[in-house]
Amino acid sequence: MKYVGAHVSASGGVENAPVNAHEIGAKAFALFTKNQRQWFSKPFSKDNINKFKENCQRYGYKPEHILPHDSYLINLGHPVKENLEKSRKAFLDEMQRCEQLGLTLLNFHPGSHLKQVSEEECLTTIAESINIALDKTNGVTAVIENTAGQGTNLGYRFEHLRFIIDRVEDKSRVGVCIDTCHTFTSGYDLKSEEGYKNTFEEFDKIVGFKYLCGMHLNDSKKELATRVDRHDNIGKGFIGEDLFRRLMNDPRFDNIPMILETPDDSLWAEEIRMLYGMVEG
Ligand SMILES: [Zn+2]
Ligand SMILES: [Zn+2]
Repeated sequence: MKYVGAHVSASGGVENAPVNAHEIGAKAFALFTKNQRQWFSKPFSKDNINKFKENCQRYGYKPEHILPHDSYLINLGHPVKENLEKSRKAFLDEMQRCEQLGLTLLNFHPGSHLKQVSEEECLTTIAESINIALDKTNGVTAVIENTAGQGTNLGYRFEHLRFIIDRVEDKSRVGVCIDTCHTFTSGYDLKSEEGYKNTFEEFDKIVGFKYLCGMHLNDSKKELATRVDRHDNIGKGFIGEDLFRRLMNDPRFDNIPMILETPDDSLWAEEIRMLYGMVEG
């Protein structure tokens, strides 16, 4: 079974996210557990936590179908010590907020080398950052997202994800999230049937489907291998509908949150219906 949803708003309180997800007919959802443009936000009240859990229960959302996303400010591979410490502290706070909400996944972009260190050095730092956070928390899996490789962002090759996983001590609490737009613009052809087959064969060989904890479903405003991260609504970009039809009929993507991060949120309810409508048989 597929669990399709969207990255919904949590404004006014984290407890509103499951309500917003329910309203668009989502079976899964993503959220920011704090303001993503700030380093730190005020802690949850007991009321926030209780209502969040109540609303998730009421609308049938299980922790494994909820994919919180961390702040874009965090760079777990930052080459400068003070900045790295700040990022690690903020990431630990994000992990702890997930713990408090009873959530089991935290999705993040691996990090950027900022042209100050090598890719390998940066990836090693990222793995160490994950180890530190896992050591101080319980029950939350660190879910590394693949990137478009814009600027100096790492994570644009499946090999990067593997390199990090290899260096994470607790393999039971590390996973990956594959973003279809990022995959395409980083250079993996997801458009053709052949490209689809090869890309996910390669993913399985290098990373392994057992690490796949979530997907981001986005079309792309940019062409294959442009290394630019610009999402488009489903079927409106350079990838096109066929990819999403293939994903919706591929059992390798069962039982994980599949999250829309498409730019026009007024289309989300329609996109979710359309995606479920693609399921054959
Ligand atoms: Zn994404
Ligand atoms: Zn993106």
